[in-house]
Amino acid sequence: MNKQDFIKFNVPFCNKGESEYIAKGLDSKIFEGGEYSEKCKHLIQKITGAKYVLLTSSCTAALEMSAILADVQPGDEVIMPSFTFVSTANAFILRGAKPVFVDICPDTLNLDPSAIEKAISEKTKAIVPMHYSGVSCQMEEILALAKKNGLFVIEDAAQALLANYNNEHLGTIGDLGTISFHYTKNIIAGFGGALLVNNESLLKRAKVLLHRGTNREAFLEGQVDKYTWVDIGSSFIMGEQSAALLFSQLEKAQEITQARQLVWKKYHEAFEELELQGLVQRPGTIQGASHNAHNYYLILNQKKSRTVFIEKMYEKGIQVTFHYQPLHQSQFYIEKFGAQTLPVTEAKASSMVRFPIYPSLTAKEQNYIIEKTYRFFNLKCKAMRVKGDLLCQNSMKI
Ligand SMILES: *Cc1c(COP(=O)(O)O)cnc(C)c1O
Repeated sequence: MNKQDFIKFNVPFCNKGESEYIAKGLDSKIFEGGEYSEKCKHLIQKITGAKYVLLTSSCTAALEMSAILADVQPGDEVIMPSFTFVSTANAFILRGAKPVFVDICPDTLNLDPSAIEKAISEKTKAIVPMHYSGVSCQMEEILALAKKNGLFVIEDAAQALLANYNNEHLGTIGDLGTISFHYTKNIIAGFGGALLVNNESLLKRAKVLLHRGTNREAFLEGQVDKYTWVDIGSSFIMGEQSAALLFSQLEKAQEITQARQLVWKKYHEAFEELELQGLVQRPGTIQGASHNAHNYYLILNQKKSRTVFIEKMYEKGIQVTFHYQPLHQSQFYIEKFGAQTLPVTEAKASSMVRFPIYPSLTAKEQNYIIEKTYRFFNLKCKAMRVKGDLLCQNSMKI
């Protein structure tokens, strides 16, 4: 392959409307809370059905706000997966809490409700289900446990825009939900996020935190005649120019997601044969969940080396990657909180590979990736030949 033909793991979706909106955003000389921020809030509300949407500078910021809103105090415990991004845990450690990592289900790689139940203690303050790859956690069970024990539920829905559980958008089911518009997610603002406030009693404080600890929003709404320092807070708000970029993406959110879903479906059908032969495990789901094709991964049978697979694919001009190094195995966590074993998390995380998935990935490129994957296992790609022609029309023109 030529260098320019190298198939990258991620190519963020960009379209023509963006530069126009960003230019308009700049012309307005408004840098926060302008027209595009309002438009984004309304569109996210429409897409998700969330009661209240606050635009944040990142999903990390939304998680940090959530930890404050749940009144997490030093010594509190917060239950979450270890198989997640560091921000899920850091947001609570910043408040002096201890993240309590529990194991995941082997098929969805999401929190295992029976493990949550065992981990609940007097000190537990909240549960943080993270919807991996836009596939819903078992929210019914999680909500029931939270209700029984008086716990907050904060959904880390960073990857889950346009993903549902029983027709409810992910991030709108718990007390709070956080979404990411980081450039590695399906819909991007460059850097950006949203806090979905579903528990109305948290809204007033959420607005104060967003405005760096002031009642500026109440001032803008005409409720007070000047704004002052009323609480802790930080620079959690999204900039107007990021909102301009985000709005142009949100307008195309369905299209972008559908294009990704075609790529996802083709991988899934093509790799069925590998799963039947016991060589890999494909992504699993639960009843009632509809995902947004954020990610396509395979778990390699332990006999095959993931490192070798990644190297072989790279030699063929394809970038496949691993994903989270479990948080409980990091030196930082072990030194601070001690060692722990989570067998499912460790087994799955150490044998996962993720494939290129984005709207501009062409059918030709995807066929090539599938073929080289089969080649790695010394198999002919029957599945692709049979089904390939039917599924080839997946490259989105941009
Ligand atoms: C991407 C991601 C985050 C962080 O999002 P940012 O917008 O980059 O702060 C947090 N949690 C999960 C699960 C993520 O995938």
